[in-house]
Amino acid sequence: MISSAQEILKKHFGFDHFRPQQAEIIERVLDKKDALVLMPTGGGKSICFQLPALLMEGTCIVVSPLISLMKDQVDALKVNGIKAEFLNSTQSFNDQQEMLEACFRGEVKLLYVSPEKLLTDLDQITRMAKPAIFAIDEAHCISSWGHDFRPEYTKMGFLRERFADIPFIALTATADKVTRKDISKQLKLREPRLFISSFDRKNLSLDVRIGVKPKQKTEEIISFIRGRKDQSGIIYCLSRNTCDDLAEKLKSAGINADSYHAGMSSEDRARVQEDFINDDLQIVCATIAFGMGIDKSNVRWIIHFNMPKNMEGYYQEIGRAGRDGLPSETILYYSYADIMLLNKFASEGGQREINLEKLKRIQHYAEADSCRRKILLNYFSETLPENCGNCDVCKNPRKHFDGTVLVQKALSAIVRMNEKEGSQMVIDVLRGSMRAEITYAKYDQLKTHGAGSEISSLDWQRYLMQMLNVGVLEMAYDENFALKLTALGKEILFGKKKIELTVLQLLDRKESSAAEKKVKRTVAPAEELFDRLRNVRRDFAMKENVPAYIIFSDATLQAMASEKPRNRLEMLDVAGVGEHKLERYGQAFIDAILDFMEGPASKAQKGNTYQETLLLYRQGLKPEEIAIHRKMSPQTAYSHLAYLYLRGNINSLEEFVSWQEVEQVKKALKFLGGSTKAMKPIFEHLNESISYLKIRLALAVIEKEAEDK
Ligand code: ADP
Ligand code: ZN
Repeated sequence: MISSAQEILKKHFGFDHFRPQQAEIIERVLDKKDALVLMPTGGGKSICFQLPALLMEGTCIVVSPLISLMKDQVDALKVNGIKAEFLNSTQSFNDQQEMLEACFRGEVKLLYVSPEKLLTDLDQITRMAKPAIFAIDEAHCISSWGHDFRPEYTKMGFLRERFADIPFIALTATADKVTRKDISKQLKLREPRLFISSFDRKNLSLDVRIGVKPKQKTEEIISFIRGRKDQSGIIYCLSRNTCDDLAEKLKSAGINADSYHAGMSSEDRARVQEDFINDDLQIVCATIAFGMGIDKSNVRWIIHFNMPKNMEGYYQEIGRAGRDGLPSETILYYSYADIMLLNKFASEGGQREINLEKLKRIQHYAEADSCRRKILLNYFSETLPENCGNCDVCKNPRKHFDGTVLVQKALSAIVRMNEKEGSQMVIDVLRGSMRAEITYAKYDQLKTHGAGSEISSLDWQRYLMQMLNVGVLEMAYDENFALKLTALGKEILFGKKKIELTVLQLLDRKESSAAEKKVKRTVAPAEELFDRLRNVRRDFAMKENVPAYIIFSDATLQAMASEKPRNRLEMLDVAGVGEHKLERYGQAFIDAILDFMEGPASKAQKGNTYQETLLLYRQGLKPEEIAIHRKMSPQTAYSHLAYLYLRGNINSLEEFVSWQEVEQVKKALKFLGGSTKAMKPIFEHLNESISYLKIRLALAVIEKEAEDK
């Protein structure tokens, strides 16, 4: 079974290897047993139900809440030569009917459907499409413990019993233990096997910047963007106003940016989303509403202009960068003002306790002075044995100092103001301000008035934040955010305990822009060939009206740019190029590569290159000699011969590859599932006994045989 799954992986998806867990999950589904799959965004969940669907009779019903994403997902499948359709309330009755009839004719392997649609039209849908698998995507939506609860998900519990002999697979990118249990319970999964892949997205760098003022933040972001020409990015903001403001500022700095939030008309939102997906819009300043419906694999960076509400949201949002596996950057701006606001929201909304606790955890993350990735993974119940080396703390380890005296000054000021004042007043008193409110309250007569004037207001704020985080202080959200001492705070104030503080990081612009330049050198895929390939991809995307990454991902283009395949067989060896895509797009990309390598001068001769090989061949040269003569690699010479043979210019390849060898390759092909054209599996299957060059010719012989039949 696995050999044919392997074959389909290459043929339809263009990949040579399964990622960890994928093969086991697929096997489980093929065994008709239930599975609960936890994989990070970009981890490769889709293949876990898409691939078995191709091997089973009937239709895989994919339940997904993301109506806006369905069309893209279906398009991506179609481009891979897989029959898929979707069904939701945005379609006309006729369209829906047509899709169902296609299902009835057995023409649809995957049917994407919203939960509402499935539940209202269940009988009709399952009569028309014979269900082979139920795949419940974004399964965390079922749990009110999760962060994205959708009540309609909870109504699906009866499906498991009703479709007793069909496997169920539930998939999600975020689920803590409670949510996990909830998913199994509510969907009534039958002895589900739990598959958890690592949530470690090594290609995402993590960076938290603390206490940067809004104006400076904007400047920093502009210079960050300028250093990243043509790179797609998303900037998440807390409010609609901030989105609009920031987008305006970026635009007036000549940057291709726009905003996206719930206050805009649905047409405007659709336009922004589409332009972004199609690489016509470089940057989106968005509220968290943006991104749910987006499956764009080449987002190169994510900036959180404001603090996210919780770790789940943060992880999901940064997870939208680098889905193609290439290095991508994330920056979180952490400000005290955001925390106050978020605290207010959390205290006022439903599920107060949970939300406040969740906010505390992300605050802890942002304030951390140890490897951030460790903390992030720890939150998702995973342990990282070593520091990651790809977060700001690892790159720039923190230093500590004995902060006892400094802390005592602040605590004493707070106590003398009867623990009634908020942070700004505390800071102003420490710095010796004489503003009216202070003199009116007679705070200027306190012993601690002016006791901390050597520390800037901003730094005081950051120290107070540290004090809150280590639990010296707490904030009474219900008393105008007044600062109060904890038990630990009292011990320190009375000299019974010492305390360490972290040396504040210099947020020097020079330093950060130097760091950015360094990053840019390693990240920017600025190669010329890559750019040319992007253009080819763009043409196809426009012609077919699909997002560019659906044609080929950035990772695949980069692989092409570095491997430079010069013919169809070599092209097929590139990860992400399956047979279907090869047929559809391969030649155009090969041409672009040849063009790039040969330069414009020899362009005219390109058509003649095979003729030239043929001429030498007819003069009796061996392929290796032809290669030397023509200054090409032996591979190219052999592939020319294969080409000429297929075109009928050469009658036989017998002198280069024996019929016994052709038979062996044929057998290997059969074993590997029939139609794979990737040479590596064949080479390995034959214990490396037949060279790649010969395999290439053997494949040509086999292909010709099939054609001639
Ligand atoms: P998820 O649904 O988990 O967010 P996807 O299924 O969209 O992730 O996969 C993310 C990316 O990884 C896609 O570009 C996909 O083509 C790629 N991918 C999936 N499986 C493999 C694999 N075995 N080898 C290489 N790339 C893969
Ligand atoms: Zn780290």
